[in-house]
Amino acid sequence: MAKHAIRNRAVHIDLVEAMPHLMPRLPKPIGRTIERRLRKLGVKLYLNSKVEGASSEELNVSGKPIRSHTIVWTAGVANNPFFTDKDFTLSARKKVLVDEFLRAEGDKDIFVIGDNAETPFSGMAQTALYDAEFIAHNFACEHDGRPKLAYRPKEPAYVTPVGPDWASMLWKDVHIHGRIAALLRYAADFHAYTDILSLKDAAVQWTSTFEREDLCPVCSSVN
Ligand SMILES: Cc1cc2nc3c(=O)[nH]c(=O)nc-3n(C[C@H](O)[C@H](O)[C@H](O)COP(=O)(O)OP(=O)(O)OC[C@H]3O[C@@H](n4cnc5c(N)ncnc54)[C@H](O)[C@@H]3O)c2cc1C
Repeated sequence: MAKHAIRNRAVHIDLVEAMPHLMPRLPKPIGRTIERRLRKLGVKLYLNSKVEGASSEELNVSGKPIRSHTIVWTAGVANNPFFTDKDFTLSARKKVLVDEFLRAEGDKDIFVIGDNAETPFSGMAQTALYDAEFIAHNFACEHDGRPKLAYRPKEPAYVTPVGPDWASMLWKDVHIHGRIAALLRYAADFHAYTDILSLKDAAVQWTSTFEREDLCPVCSSVN
């Protein structure tokens, strides 16, 4: 704000969530901890509130206007319409029902893994990778004439960063938040990079995430 000579004009961040708590798919204490953290950072929360419309000047939230010039829309991801359009059996969440080998119900030649499969922890990259390894293992078993394994869902760790050096982590019954959870997230990110890059390239990629991206000509010219 100082660099841009914004003085008497405050910048507000308002977060609108349709459900009564943030992170509604995780246990309530996680959402509450994240809510407290966001409030501490100065974010105003509108819970149980639905965005019903928007113009260049304001957002219509549950029938009331919130003045805003900038809107960042993040209202979730939908499953791929490919499955809806074809003849797959879908769950209430519009995910494909699968058997214990992750084969689509009704068609034993089609395997569905990751976000689109109706498994307890789908919707996470960790689950998508786990599913991929699971079916790869079973393909090898089938090829070698060994018995195949039945799918056993693996609960992933949920690490949610909120602002710099703070995260909330939930792994089974363990919930921690703060700097240690943030460090665990940084470590997990590094580990994920090494899955697809050499150690050296992973280190370069990982350290670049700590650099501030200043694409603004005003900010980058003032040091
Ligand atoms: C903002 C955001 C943050 C996230 N953060 C995390 C996180 O911190 N940790 C975590 O574990 N998970 C996270 N996730 C979830 C994670 O990204 C997904 O669970 C994961 O990518 C699912 O993998 P997938 O292979 O099932 O699907 P995807 O990664 O979506 O891959 C599907 C691919 O199929 C392609 N495709 C679609 N239709 C066709 C077609 N007809 N023919 C050919 N190709 C097609 C798509 O382009 C896409 O590349 C996040 C997701 C989002 C959106």
